[in-house]
Amino acid sequence: MKSRADDEFRCPRCLNPHMSEQVWGGTPVRICMKCGANFFTAGALAGFEGWAEDVPAAAECCATHAPTAVHCPACATVLERIEFPLDTPLEIERCPRCHGILLDFEEIRRVPEIGVWAKKTIAERAGR
Ligand SMILES: [Zn+2]
Ligand SMILES: [Zn+2]
Repeated sequence: MKSRADDEFRCPRCLNPHMSEQVWGGTPVRICMKCGANFFTAGALAGFEGWAEDVPAAAECCATHAPTAVHCPACATVLERIEFPLDTPLEIERCPRCHGILLDFEEIRRVPEIGVWAKKTIAERAGR
């Protein structure tokens, strides 16, 4: 039985009213079959990447934060865009309230780069 809330999990990017629920390696993820957007609830991305937190603190503080025009599919708060200054900048969208994260497949593929970059940033700071 699906709950009503499940049926109303709307994709913030293409407004498809139903993002399907899937589990990847033990991590629950909501996927939009129309545009390929993926929504990770707080802590899910960390579990998926094997990190202590969804966005490493060292990466978080060097990133640029900006509001977006799309709303969180879980709590309807306006999502925040976080841009990481990698060689090829990577942007993710995160909910400032429930900390859910919205990514497309290309972004998911590149998420490990954030971890590598965060480690490098910490090492550079320690060396200063
Ligand atoms: Zn979509
Ligand atoms: Zn939210």
